[in-house]
Amino acid sequence: MTEKISGLSDPVAVDRYETILLDMDGTLLDLAFDNYFWRELVPRVYARQQDITHHAARTHIYELYAGREGTLDWYCLDFWARQLQLDLPALKQASSHRIRFLPGAREFLQRARLSGKRLVLVTNAHQLTLSIKKDVTGLHYWIKEFVSSHDIGAPKEQQDFWAALHKQLQFDPDTTLFVDDSLPVIEAATEYGLAGVIAIRRPDSRQPLREVAGHAFVDGVEHLTTGH
Ligand SMILES: [Mg+2]
Repeated sequence: MTEKISGLSDPVAVDRYETILLDMDGTLLDLAFDNYFWRELVPRVYARQQDITHHAARTHIYELYAGREGTLDWYCLDFWARQLQLDLPALKQASSHRIRFLPGAREFLQRARLSGKRLVLVTNAHQLTLSIKKDVTGLHYWIKEFVSSHDIGAPKEQQDFWAALHKQLQFDPDTTLFVDDSLPVIEAATEYGLAGVIAIRRPDSRQPLREVAGHAFVDGVEHLTTGH
């Protein structure tokens, strides 16, 4: 069912899709912020609060993260605030000036909006994170519909999420494209049967390109062309 769209950094035409479901972090926005926040800042603040070394804090927290990977908790600001006893909403707000678009993402959104396609942002981010990121980036200028998996009650990695999203948005899978940087999520969307599923190869502008074997891909959304 899923069409193979050759990537290799060549432009990929997405004209034939009427609906484009877009992930936020690592697809439109630079994952460098999230990597900084969760992997550097949170362990540093936790180390200070617990009066332990940065290394010990990092090891402990990375283990906790690994234990929740792929679940809604992993993406949940409230869960980690409770777990680590840190005011993460305040910390996120205080570091929000670091939130950035990925290269070419704004231009892609502008083209996609002008093409008249239905654009829906579909994220595993917590509602508060989504709200902060909308405020900082102005994503709502281009996108009118936003869905957080926390409202649905299942992460994008699960088929339950896709069934609920389908019911809520009433999109036609045959004319719907989904773009995301998470491979387990890409696999779930492919399994659900969307006509187009494209993986992002460079979600973090500070990191090298990743291998995305077995899936259609582009380096970034700037390589998606909408005919405008
Ligand atoms: Mg992502």
